[in-house]
Amino acid sequence: MYARVGMKMERIPLLGLTLEELRSVAAEVGLPTFAARQMASWLYQKGVASIDEMTNISLAARKRLSERYEVGRSAPLLRKQSADGTAKYLFPTRDGQRVEAVYIPDDDRGTICVSCQVGCKMACRFCMTGRQGFQGQLTASDILNQIYSLPEREKLTNIVFMGQGEPMDNLDAILRTTELLMADYGWAWSPKRITVSTAGLRKGLKRFLDESPCHLAISLHNPFHEERAAMMPAERSYPISEMLNLLHQFDWTGQRRLSFEYIVFGGQNDTDRHARELVRLLGSLECRVNLIRWHAIPESAFSDKTADGSSSVPLVLHEADPARMVVFRDYLSSHGVRCTIRASRGQDIDAACGLLNTKEQNKGSINNEK
Ligand code: SF4
Repeated sequence: MYARVGMKMERIPLLGLTLEELRSVAAEVGLPTFAARQMASWLYQKGVASIDEMTNISLAARKRLSERYEVGRSAPLLRKQSADGTAKYLFPTRDGQRVEAVYIPDDDRGTICVSCQVGCKMACRFCMTGRQGFQGQLTASDILNQIYSLPEREKLTNIVFMGQGEPMDNLDAILRTTELLMADYGWAWSPKRITVSTAGLRKGLKRFLDESPCHLAISLHNPFHEERAAMMPAERSYPISEMLNLLHQFDWTGQRRLSFEYIVFGGQNDTDRHARELVRLLGSLECRVNLIRWHAIPESAFSDKTADGSSSVPLVLHEADPARMVVFRDYLSSHGVRCTIRASRGQDIDAACGLLNTKEQNKGSINNEK
């Protein structure tokens, strides 16, 4: 069976299939059921890039498989290396678009930040991806390719779904991807090494909390409804107060962790008033707040209106004062809210979400800078 794309017949990617689905593939090409586990091992544990490398499957069976299927791996189109070791990649998707993934080394940790959509519907005003608008969903195969085709894959210790797109808006693909990362027949990773983020999408969040053991990160950025809504239109349909009501219904004292990402904009969300409100909102939740210093993005005119047209109030953003961030962190920590300042990484390589992709789209071409 082939996937039809226009008039062209394309092979179906095996990367992204569950064990059950691999059993159907095995049956289809006349292989015994146990071959499904062999294929899963090649795909998800050994990380092969071609069916030819599955050497414990007979040559004839590999040939039959290759007539209809392929592993589904695609190397990055572009790599940008930061002076601090961070590397940003542009990966192709199955339908010919491009998404970003970032590799962040840190002492004995290696983290990949993956994308789950091309563009994004959430229209956050500080985000280049939000300004692109929505251009399409990624499949589990597209998401796994960012991980498996990452040159630093062997060094990975953590995976975060914090790249382009809103994970709760593509939850089927996210849950399938994380299942394949965690399953014993898959990569057998612990959910403690996987974090999924959200700006807040009512429908997806409840399902994620019910079905996934992975960590959750909420993009908060402001504790006040009107101020948050001015930055993040998602707040209008799912206010943070309602999101917190939902989060309180779950246990955060076990293995699954809850964190709040808080990009600090100088003078805008780092005042005493904001600190007090954060303590009031989060004080009774087992969670952590990560403060991230915002860096001005070149060529970003944030002073017009949101991409979805929901606000036309001028927006001028300022970088935060590092000393002020320390005071802010200390206030939260001393009032019972665990808080850390996260170092900004890769500022010299268009590290802001969506910036590299936007620049390349504007250029209209890809030059491999490896
Ligand atoms: S910050 Fe995240 S949720 Fe908001 S527009 Fe950007 S990619 Fe989408």
